[in-house]
Amino acid sequence: QAQNIVLSVNGIEVIYNHVILVLKGVSLQLPEKGIVALLGGNGAGKTTTLRAISNLLKGERGEVTKGSIELRGEQIQNLSPADLVKRGVVQVMEGRHCFAHLTIEENLMTGSYTRSDKGEIAANLEKVYNYFPRLKTRRTSQAAYTSGGEQQMCAIGRAIMSNPNIVLLDEPSMGLAPQIVEEVFNIVKDLNAKEGTTFLLAEQNTNMALKYADYGYIMESGRIVMDGPAADLASNEDVKEFYLGVG
Ligand code: ATP
Repeated sequence: QAQNIVLSVNGIEVIYNHVILVLKGVSLQLPEKGIVALLGGNGAGKTTTLRAISNLLKGERGEVTKGSIELRGEQIQNLSPADLVKRGVVQVMEGRHCFAHLTIEENLMTGSYTRSDKGEIAANLEKVYNYFPRLKTRRTSQAAYTSGGEQQMCAIGRAIMSNPNIVLLDEPSMGLAPQIVEEVFNIVKDLNAKEGTTFLLAEQNTNMALKYADYGYIMESGRIVMDGPAADLASNEDVKEFYLGVG
C-alpha cells in the first residue's frame, strides 16, 4: 500500500438508546495528510461516525457495538475525548460551538487546555492568526457579535490550538455563504499542505467538499454506499444525479 493509513474505522455498528441501529457496518480510512470527505444527506450517519471516532457518543446515549477504530494501529474506542486530543485527534462539532460570551481570543485559548507550556501556547495562537487573519482582526470581539463565518473559523482555530494531526470537521459549510465556505475550505487546504494536518470532512455540500478533498465516501442510511478518489466521484453520473447540486 502506497499511502500510510493513520486512522481506520473497521465495520462499526452504532446503536443509540440501546435500540436504534444507526451505523450498520461503516468502514473508512484516512491516509496520512489526506483530506477525506464523508458525504451524504441529512441523517445518513455522518455525525454519528465522527462521534464514534472521537468517543463523543456516550453523552448522546450511543455506543459502538461492533467493529473497531484504530489510530496508527492502536485501538482507541476506550480512550476519553481528552486522551484523543493528546494523541492528536480533535473534532470540530457541527453548529460551530463557540462560547458566545467569550472573545475570539479567549475561545481560541480554551483549545489549548491539554497544554501547559506558555511559550508553546503563544506560538500556537500566532500560528492560528497566521492561517485565520480574520480572527486576528476580531480577537477582542465577543464571539456572539462575530459573523457565522468567523465563528466557524474560531471553532476550527480552537481545534488547531491543540496541535492536532487529525481534525474531524462536521459540516463546516453549514449556514455559510458560498464565498465564506470557499474561504474556510481554502484555509483547511492550506493547513493540510503546510502543517500536514489530516482532515475528515463531513459535508452535505458534495460539490464543494469534492473540490477540496482527495478522496470521498458517500453514506446513506448508516452505510457507505460508494467511495473513490474525489475527482472520480465528482464526475460519476450517479453522484451527479443524486448528490451534486444538493446543498
Ligand atoms: P446531519 O447532517 O443532520 O447531522 P448526519 O448524516 O450527520 O446528519 P447523524 O446525525 O449521524 O446523521 O444521524 C443519523 C441517524 O441517527 C438519524 O436518523 C438521527 O435521527 C439518529 N440520531 C442521531 N443522534 C441521535 C441520538 N442522540 N439519539 C437517537 N438517535 C440519534
